[in-house]
Amino acid sequence: MAQSRRRGQMCCVYGCVNCRYDKENALSDNHFFNIPKHVLEKRKQKQRWCALIKSQDGLDGFNMTPRPVICHEHFLESDFKKALGSKRWTLEPGVEPSVFNWSKVSERKPPKNRLPLSPSKDQANLMVDAPVSPDNHQSL
Ligand SMILES: [Zn+2]
Repeated sequence: MAQSRRRGQMCCVYGCVNCRYDKENALSDNHFFNIPKHVLEKRKQKQRWCALIKSQDGLDGFNMTPRPVICHEHFLESDFKKALGSKRWTLEPGVEPSVFNWSKVSERKPPKNRLPLSPSKDQANLMVDAPVSPDNHQSL
């Protein structure tokens, strides 16, 4: 029986369900980035990234490893370079994930300044539209 272990490769960002492979075990459109080496090497950086992605090192099956674990959705377009003709994208040095579900401020649209309907709307206007004539020139 084919065991689909690959499906286990999921984005490690809290709340993100993007997988490297889709249900049919095909490569998904998600790009996954490694946690940069300089982050892995520095405790403080590591902790910072853990805090950023709301995942704890060594918990919930997540470990800070050099494997690709964070999907591209958490980076800005300007944070990475897309390699043309390749599935390999590279992070710019020094960037960190900054786009998260929970950071999306629910965009509140400012209330529309609706002009109050003027009560003195002339009734005459209602008559401007020509009545729809029932006889359209369809003779079948
Ligand atoms: Zn993700």
